[in-house]
Amino acid sequence: MRSLPQPHENQIERPAPAEPWHVTSISPKREHSGTETLLKKNLKETKFEELRGKTFELIRVVEMLCEVCQKPLSTKEKLLRKVQISNIEDYQNLLNRATVHDRAEIDAEKGKIYFYDHDFPGDIHPECIEKL
Ligand SMILES: [Zn+2]
Repeated sequence: MRSLPQPHENQIERPAPAEPWHVTSISPKREHSGTETLLKKNLKETKFEELRGKTFELIRVVEMLCEVCQKPLSTKEKLLRKVQISNIEDYQNLLNRATVHDRAEIDAEKGKIYFYDHDFPGDIHPECIEKL
């Protein structure tokens, strides 16, 4: 059995290893209320008891928004680190971290926690250019 050393630190933020961003293109025609959101829920609504003893991958998601419709053009995902929730401080650190992002969602089945931010890269959907 192999366990990663888990130095106990309050500061979650640290320089991530050279993990590449994974970019996903999104068409504005795709509805964002599909099944994919059903599995995720707001981190703030998740209780400590549901997370205790589990390990999660923290993933930062940056939504690149269209200048016209302000819906995502694409998303960039990056694995930040893994974190084990072994005590209430670990849980509180997660909640604290979530406050600096647009929103935070958890997919408990996949063991992933997503921190969302957004950016305006100065791009426009091809579909939106046609509307101008
Ligand atoms: Zn658009």
